[in-house]
Amino acid sequence: MQLSIVIPCMNEEESIPLLIDRLKGVVEPWKENAEIILVDDGSTDGTWEAIQVAHRKVPQVHGIRLSANRGHQIALTAGLEVAIGERIFMLDADLQDPPEILPEMMLMMDAGYDVVYGRRAVRRGETVFKRTTAFLFYRILNSLSDVAIPNDTGDFRLVSRRALNAVLEMPEQSRFIRGMFAWVGFRQIGLEYVREARTAGVTKYPFRAMLRFATDALTGFSIRPLRFATRLSFLSLFVTLLMAIYVVGSLILFNTAPGWASMVLAVSFFSGIQLLTLGILGEYIGRLYVETKRRPLYFLSEEVGNCENTEIKKESIMKKEVT
Ligand code: UDP
Ligand code: MG
Repeated sequence: MQLSIVIPCMNEEESIPLLIDRLKGVVEPWKENAEIILVDDGSTDGTWEAIQVAHRKVPQVHGIRLSANRGHQIALTAGLEVAIGERIFMLDADLQDPPEILPEMMLMMDAGYDVVYGRRAVRRGETVFKRTTAFLFYRILNSLSDVAIPNDTGDFRLVSRRALNAVLEMPEQSRFIRGMFAWVGFRQIGLEYVREARTAGVTKYPFRAMLRFATDALTGFSIRPLRFATRLSFLSLFVTLLMAIYVVGSLILFNTAPGWASMVLAVSFFSGIQLLTLGILGEYIGRLYVETKRRPLYFLSEEVGNCENTEIKKESIMKKEVT
């Protein structure tokens, strides 16, 4: 059986040698039937050189390089499109997800599952902020989304060929891959593991990237925020009613000039609601715009390996290369 391991890398020159060392033992049972696909997502450090070195040391390593940085989810997509294995294992380059869990995931897949996802029981070496926002993110996402996306999971998982093919049928630009796998269905199961601290380097998900990732997930898997505007209009109706009573009451009882405070309050309350709902609309319209352009997700600029040293034969994968 053929196995593909897909790893997106952006500025991971220090992690790659450690990663390859750990993976060597893991792929041993598959020998020539395994490929390790490292995707260089427009790195600015020596990541591509590190991938070439890794290929010389371990022939199963197959490197592809994107023409520019496209982000974690698209880099992962590029690797998944290139993979030819019957089972595909995805992990991050920083070894936060232990590759040694693979045999256990394999056993679960033997039992008939199509997706075995890692569930983070403990997260080590991450800030309280990251842990809290991640915790809240999955709960909010699940309360809004129509698809049950398992809590506290990442893209760390083993998937079957048919589950992967189903996901690759989905052409969207804003990709939230763990949600897409949840959406395609089949039999899925979680396996708990301890998420370790990064082995080297720093996180490539600054707050801005996390926010974007979260809005992609929310807008990609729920249209409920759009209905929020309707709900808010009920609230504003109620508040207006209370204000009307107050205004009429004070006019009769105190015979005062109309109050300045209530005016300011009303104006700021309703303009706040309007801005908020406009913003929500904007998030969806912006994504509609990006989707309608139907641009290719990425271009490949370089390749190393393509498994010439392994028994896996494939046609040229440089289909998206621009020459
Ligand atoms: N990554 C990528 N492109 C990016 C950002 C990240 O390919 O634009 C890769 C990164 O090299 C790593 C994985 O995605 O292998 C997860 O990123 P990171 O570990 O920085 O995220 P965190 O674990 O901190 O959420
Ligand atoms: Mg990480």
